[in-house]
Amino acid sequence: MFTKLFKFLRLERISTALCIIAVILAMGGAVSGYLALKYNQVRSQSALIQSQVFLDGLLTVRDLLRVNVELNSLRNKSEVDPETRLRLQDALDYLYVRTESLKTRVEQSDNTGVDNQLTMLVGLISVGDRALMARGAQLGSLRDQALSLVDAVSQTVMTFVSDQFVRQSETIDRQVEMLDKLAVAAISGMSFFSLMACVAVIFVRSQYRLQIKWRAAEKHAGYLAYFDTLTGLPNRIKFRSEAGRIIKDKPSLLVLLCDLDDFKTINDVHGHAVGDAVLTQVGKRLNRVLLRHDGFAARLGGDEFGAVVPGKMSSMRTAALCEEILREVNARVEYEHVFINPSMSIGVVYSPMVKEHEAKSISALQRAADVALYKSKSNGKNTYAFFDSELAEQVSARKKMEVDLANALEMDDLWLAFQPQIDMQTGGIVGFEALARWTHEGNFVSPGEFIPVAEDTGLILDLDIWCFRKALETLGTWIAMGHAPVKMSTNFSSVHFRSPQVVEQVREIIEQTKIPPQYVTVEVTESMLIEDMGTTTRILDELQSLGVGLALDDFGTGYSSFAYLRKLNLDFIKIDQSFVRDLDETEENQLVIRSLVNIAKGLHKRLVVEGIETEYQAEIIRGLECEVGQGYLFGRPMKSEDAREMIPRRDTAAQTA
Ligand code: C2E
Ligand code: CA
Ligand code: CA
Repeated sequence: MFTKLFKFLRLERISTALCIIAVILAMGGAVSGYLALKYNQVRSQSALIQSQVFLDGLLTVRDLLRVNVELNSLRNKSEVDPETRLRLQDALDYLYVRTESLKTRVEQSDNTGVDNQLTMLVGLISVGDRALMARGAQLGSLRDQALSLVDAVSQTVMTFVSDQFVRQSETIDRQVEMLDKLAVAAISGMSFFSLMACVAVIFVRSQYRLQIKWRAAEKHAGYLAYFDTLTGLPNRIKFRSEAGRIIKDKPSLLVLLCDLDDFKTINDVHGHAVGDAVLTQVGKRLNRVLLRHDGFAARLGGDEFGAVVPGKMSSMRTAALCEEILREVNARVEYEHVFINPSMSIGVVYSPMVKEHEAKSISALQRAADVALYKSKSNGKNTYAFFDSELAEQVSARKKMEVDLANALEMDDLWLAFQPQIDMQTGGIVGFEALARWTHEGNFVSPGEFIPVAEDTGLILDLDIWCFRKALETLGTWIAMGHAPVKMSTNFSSVHFRSPQVVEQVREIIEQTKIPPQYVTVEVTESMLIEDMGTTTRILDELQSLGVGLALDDFGTGYSSFAYLRKLNLDFIKIDQSFVRDLDETEENQLVIRSLVNIAKGLHKRLVVEGIETEYQAEIIRGLECEVGQGYLFGRPMKSEDAREMIPRRDTAAQTA
């Protein structure tokens, strides 16, 4: 029963054992206490009997005295007068009653050796009785006989009484002693049991508290196992189990995968606290919309959310749902004076849209929604797309590339090609543009393929810094091998210009590689300028204050505003190769490039023209007084050793100068 109770209370075995021991001891204590009391009671009873025997003894003596007195009054009498007879008769009756009572008491007690006195008493009474009727000499002899019996009996009764007295006080002494012992035992027993009880209570209490804590921890662990602590939404496990349950019950359901756009950048640029605030808000908003549509949302991990709407959904209703989500999510999030307008891409799959066996598997539906999500991302973000089976293969190839590219970067499997930049007037080498190269599983992957992947995944931040470091290190080894220092350009994706951390990274690499900053150029594209002019200008200024040159890449292809370009402290403008490519074809194209050159000159920027493939193109460009040219005519992007060969050695360079 106790174990059941403790089991119910879910207490530890040790406290269970302790409590059981305490209970057994308490019961044992109670039983032994009871027995001791019983023993004492028996003892007291015998003491009581002893004292009654003692009392009877004394009374007998008194009655004997009465008999003695009456017998003595018969001296010198020949017969018993009626008055004396009555008194003697009365005294003898008393003595008889006393004797009977004494007989019973003696039988009750363990007294031995009193039988003789009793017999003597009985003899005395019968002699007395006979004397009552006797006369003359018979009376005299019976009286004397009776008197001597009274003497003898009195003597023995007195001895018996004093014996009794001694025995009684001994018994009382023993009793007192026993009571003392009992009291000590009772007190120590009580203290011991109280102590045990206290210990047990303390144990039970601590166990109970522990139990409460365990239960709370269990509850919390249970919560953690199924809910995301940041957003409070169900997590991936709960999402899958709930969706799995719905799949069983409903013939159709809608699964959405939602991925925040540029979340890595938000995190990198504004810090994790802002990132967390965005995730929390987006989670709340998404959940709100889904609840309105009788569905539910979950956080699947990182910046990925999932949602399920059970039941039939028309494509119109689905589109309306997605638009509602995007609208809500787009609202501004403010965190400690940072303002973010989050956006997300949504991949949608409606279970009747996939193969029958896949429609019953949440994993298959999630994969399909993932394909749709990719489509949505490549459609330009902040939008949604439906699952399309043809796309599935392309997406899996692209996903593989993402993983492989991240590995390649980590394993140092990327390498750099260097394309020369030439002084258009002298034909001498000005410097190189370092371009990222990736040989993946034995095949060359063009930057046009992997750079957008790196940009989409946020890997570009690390990739650009890797290229920058590698390019400066390479230049360092060339100089160390005796070549004249030349300019080294590397490309920086627009993502860098949203966070000042790039300045620190550039400063550190310049310091570590010991390349004088005047030989370092950072190429940035026009597209980045539109996004956040304030931050971009500040970062570019800081880079320039390090002594680094800045070049605007692909000029002419993007957003061009003079006012805009004037504000930026650019050192070079690189006219995009598309304008050069068309030079051969019509006179008009010459006009286009001419006007671009004029704009650049009007902004007082130095010019680099890229994509020069023919001597004819070079001729025209030279005629436009462009300073620097880059293109296959002067050299394709090449390996480091080949590039190094193009640079004059320091001694020859000095001679030429
Ligand atoms: P970009 O910065 O405009 O680089 C110049 C591209 O034009 C290079 O292509 C180069 O090989 C090519 N090119 C040079 N001269 C000629 C020519 O005469 N004719 C033709 N048809 N093409 C020429 P690549 O190496 O394929 O790079 C493509 C783009 O990839 C680059 O364009 C750049 O935007 C990007 N990229 C390459 N490496 C990096 C990098 O490390 N970081 C970033 N953010 N982007 C990079
Ligand atoms: Ca470039
Ligand atoms: Ca370019």
